[in-house]
Amino acid sequence: MQSLNDNKTTLSVMPSGSRCVITKINGHGSFRHRIMEMGFVKGEIVTVVKNAPLRDPIEYEVMGSHISLRRSEALQIEVSDISACESGATSFSTFTEEVQKNIKEKSNIINVALVGNPNCGKTSFFNFATGLHEKVGNYSGVTVNAKIGTFNYNGYTINMIDLPGTYSITEYSPEELYVRQYICEESPDIVLNVVDSSNLERNLFLTTQLIDMNVRIVMALNMYDEFQKSGSRLDYEYLGSMLGFNIVPTVAFKGVGINEVLDSIINTYEDRANTHKHIHINYGKDIEDEITRIKKSIVLNKEVTDKYSSRYLALKLLEDDKTTLEVFKGRDNYSDIVSVSERSRKHLREVHKEEPSEVITNAKYGFIRGALKETYVPPMSSKKNLSSKIDNILTNRWLGFPILFLFLYIMFQSTFSLGAIPQGWIERGVELLATWLLSVLPSGIVSDLLINGIIEGVGSVLVFLPNILILFLFISIMEDTGYMARAAFIMDKLMHKIGLHGKSFIPLLIGFGCSVPAIMATRILENKKNRIVTMLIIPLMSCSARLPVYILLVSAFFPKNQALILLGLYLVGILLAILIALIMKKFFYKSDSEQFVMELPPYRFPSFRNLMIHIWDRVAEYLKKISSVILIASVIIWVLGYFPRTSAATDAIDSQIALLEADAANADAVQMAKIESLQLQRSLVQKENSYIGKIGKVIEPVMAPLGFDWKMSVSLVTGFAAKEIVVSSMGILYKVEDAENITSLSKALQSEVYATGPRAGQKVFSPLVAMAFMLFVLLYVPCTATIITCGKEFGRKWAWIMSGYTFALAWIVAFLVFQVGSLLGLGL
Ligand code: GDP
Ligand code: MG
Repeated sequence: MQSLNDNKTTLSVMPSGSRCVITKINGHGSFRHRIMEMGFVKGEIVTVVKNAPLRDPIEYEVMGSHISLRRSEALQIEVSDISACESGATSFSTFTEEVQKNIKEKSNIINVALVGNPNCGKTSFFNFATGLHEKVGNYSGVTVNAKIGTFNYNGYTINMIDLPGTYSITEYSPEELYVRQYICEESPDIVLNVVDSSNLERNLFLTTQLIDMNVRIVMALNMYDEFQKSGSRLDYEYLGSMLGFNIVPTVAFKGVGINEVLDSIINTYEDRANTHKHIHINYGKDIEDEITRIKKSIVLNKEVTDKYSSRYLALKLLEDDKTTLEVFKGRDNYSDIVSVSERSRKHLREVHKEEPSEVITNAKYGFIRGALKETYVPPMSSKKNLSSKIDNILTNRWLGFPILFLFLYIMFQSTFSLGAIPQGWIERGVELLATWLLSVLPSGIVSDLLINGIIEGVGSVLVFLPNILILFLFISIMEDTGYMARAAFIMDKLMHKIGLHGKSFIPLLIGFGCSVPAIMATRILENKKNRIVTMLIIPLMSCSARLPVYILLVSAFFPKNQALILLGLYLVGILLAILIALIMKKFFYKSDSEQFVMELPPYRFPSFRNLMIHIWDRVAEYLKKISSVILIASVIIWVLGYFPRTSAATDAIDSQIALLEADAANADAVQMAKIESLQLQRSLVQKENSYIGKIGKVIEPVMAPLGFDWKMSVSLVTGFAAKEIVVSSMGILYKVEDAENITSLSKALQSEVYATGPRAGQKVFSPLVAMAFMLFVLLYVPCTATIITCGKEFGRKWAWIMSGYTFALAWIVAFLVFQVGSLLGLGL
């Protein structure tokens, strides 16, 4: 292989005691970043403290501190020996001059590799730039060969290599392998990606691979003359800002734009290019998860990851790339890497019914389509494929929003109204079971635990399974068809207004299902600030676990305007989310105008099987939740409410009852009713004096200003475990074991009165209290699973912030609603 840097001196060969100046850091982006962060920056003087052959690591002194580097790291740092100038120098100033000259000579050499599809104009560019006159033409050489030319430009020496043309960087042809070896092994300073602008989509495919490799790129948008003639337009500056490198239009065979490209190369080399950033192409959750998994095994081999980007290696292993596997041969955990990547591939094959490499390719095209959709206007006459025809309607400027909102309307409408039917069946089933158990079991602690604890607690949550299924069915359909990406696309402008990105729409929408996957879905956002703001407002997207609470209270207290009230609740959440995002934008994350590509994957008909798998996942998760957290919580709440059985207050009532019962002479209907009402009162008093009652009484003062009694307060506390448990708790707490017939929970709520205290005898619930309560449930601290996920993804600090602010928000909103409502006389 021809090389651009045959006579380079690297830090790894410098002997102990010698001094040198860093002239260049080679390697992929994240490697360079890490090395520079340690203080190994161009122009810095390094003293070699200890370097023995075959010894790893080597010890250096740089910027006044001692740092060890692996030999493989030091190999990537080019230096210039200054021991000679130091001994020869007569004064300090001549010494610095010598050093300066030395650095300049060495570090002003830029190695540029030309990479691009065949016939995109690489050789034409090469010839114009170098002044050589290589044969130009349409040929595809049998022997792989590359030409090197050297020339001076603006004080820099540019070594340019004209690599063979390839459509991609895989391992299917010797040319491809050559280009790939070259980029990885020789690590050119800049890869000049020449693209044929009249064939952007295909040409950009190679670019996505360069992005994966994390190399510094400059793009020459060649054949720009033909491109313009065809009537197409491209906002290449915007495209460049999204992709993270400079794009310069050129007409290579006429020499147009060559100097601009060279300027761009120098700026990028000197890290002065304003567009420069490293982006990750998002391959979708499944692939990304596997990348993370494989990376864990890869990063144990530091010598390898010093040379190759670990993300790139993981991707290649997912593509079953043999050449990449070779890289790891002989390493300690080689067999582990083989088995991990095999498992990942197998898993992906099962999920996607496609080779992982195809999934990756599709994702790349989705990325390209998304990038071009925002920047490229094709010529009028160009023929379009089906996907872009559909896109023309679904992402149309006028039709896009109505279609999206219609879809969302249908989604929520079905969740509630369609879900109500099977919900009724389950409800009746649970009731029948409870009535039957009541009739067969002898009354006592066991039947109480079963009926009032477990069945009430679990049953009240189980009934909402259909609603949740329907909601997730819609979300899955959106994801599987590719419509979700379009939704993000059309929401982009609006989301920017609140400082977010169109892609934030996806996690937010998923948040209506469940906050946990939603928080994980924020990974698709490249920008950390966007991720944080999105994560913070996800809990305000009313998740499906809160639905049971709303449905219960809305049907009990707002029978006339059910749908309207529900919609209102969701809207309140959304409005507050917007408000919070705006506040964050204004005060915390002021300037944020970074541009990102929105992937547009091809439309697909969702496979029935896939949908079923997704939905079954949800059902299984829900059932698991019911049979674990919710079951346990129900039992605990029941136990806390069942004991202690007696207290001074219950004893007093007991003796009253005993007196009445002893009075056999007057045993008429009036007396029976008296006894019955005393018994009812006894069970109320018992619950109030039970452990849970005591807990509730402690919290009650905090919640009383919101109009909540101790039972509501306790229910809210239990809701930390999972929001559905609020309903379970209410079921257990409000339904008293008074009569043989089971009344529905909503009836129990309607007739609940305060047993003691200043409001004794008054109704606990009014529509106003119910509204304040629903708002509180909507806003207050998300469930434990969400908080844990947040902590895992963003760190403990953010988990605290999320919990703290949601609680404060919930309290304030509920307080305002209840107090203002009461003042206006809406309290009853
Ligand atoms: P390579 O295969 O990438 O090295 O491409 P070449 O440099 O061999 O060019 C392929 C063909 O495209 C040649 O016929 C060039 O004359 C022509 N060509 C190169 N650059 C341009 C350009 O900017 N505009 C037009 N119209 N033709 C170009
Ligand atoms: Mg050529």
